[in-house]
Amino acid sequence: MKDISRYVRRAIAALTPYSTARDEYEGELGVFLDANESPYENGYNRYPDPHQKALKAQIAAIKGVPAENIFIGNGSDEAIDLVFRVFCEPREDNVVAIAPSYGMYKVAAAINDVEIREVALGEDFSLPTDALLAAADEKTKALFLCSPNNPTANSFPREELMRLVEEFDGMVVVDEAYIDFAEAKSLVGEIASHPNLVVLQTMSKAWGMAGLRVGLALADSRVVGLMSQVKYPYNINVATMKIVSDLLTKGVSEEVEQIKQQRAVVAEALAEFKFVERVYPSDANFLLVRVADADALYEHLIVNGIIVRNRTRVKGCEGCLRITIGLKEENEKLIKSLERYETCNIR
Ligand SMILES: *Cc1c(COP(=O)(O)O)cnc(C)c1O
Repeated sequence: MKDISRYVRRAIAALTPYSTARDEYEGELGVFLDANESPYENGYNRYPDPHQKALKAQIAAIKGVPAENIFIGNGSDEAIDLVFRVFCEPREDNVVAIAPSYGMYKVAAAINDVEIREVALGEDFSLPTDALLAAADEKTKALFLCSPNNPTANSFPREELMRLVEEFDGMVVVDEAYIDFAEAKSLVGEIASHPNLVVLQTMSKAWGMAGLRVGLALADSRVVGLMSQVKYPYNINVATMKIVSDLLTKGVSEEVEQIKQQRAVVAEALAEFKFVERVYPSDANFLLVRVADADALYEHLIVNGIIVRNRTRVKGCEGCLRITIGLKEENEKLIKSLERYETCNIR
């Protein structure tokens, strides 16, 4: 097994983290005169639990992962930023990432003043496993992968992802924001035997809580401990924890099934249009579509009140729009609008 302590920044390894008086005892005490809060109850006058114990227990049961392996962030974006803050010395270390992929890896690298070495995906967006390994050097601390990948929509083969986890000398982050829509199974089962693996998941997509800002990093308890020491103590607020907890009890399997079904319907409809050159296979809740004139089609949809993501200026995605799967009625509006576009362009 890899010794992950070798990857940790000096300042973080030496850190004395912030602690609260409530960290010093367990059990039921009724009089809280330790945190300079208001004593007048309004539902929000107390600080939230910085360890998010109750919410972690609930997520642990859903994910089948021990609570000590769960980090809860203000969106997975917080977890991405924390990977840099925990492992990468600014201006000294570097990370490797696939491209095209989720834009936040690059932004977080820039904010933390850490070099990011992007390695282009191969033919049909395949994982460039050997090139990713070759891009690393002794200053490389992390590798960012995303599967299913945004914006290319494909999952990478489990054996290749695991080969990278095993052979890469550094932390391997596998962002599974879209895993609930995929046929492939999550890598979370591998964290127990691979301390350098960090699996990111989010409540923002399948779980329908983008507005609440909750993301997860599932990893070795030492990695979770380091990220927890570096995060703001009260990164998840009382209201968010309560609402997330309520929504988690409802489940989303029906919605996920609907979206997967609609994804097939929309993909089939899109493929019929003459201006559509390619509908890429999708394991996510969106479709990447290559069209004859992405900018013109994007403008047409805007005029029709439909906003999609224009990815034509992303290297590797030239001519492509990324289209989220919506409700059946919304998808039908999209197809109607595309029919109008096709008729206009024939005349
Ligand atoms: C949407 C998305 C996320 C989610 O980020 P949050 O901060 O949790 O909302 C993470 N990774 C990828 C690849 C995404 O597309």
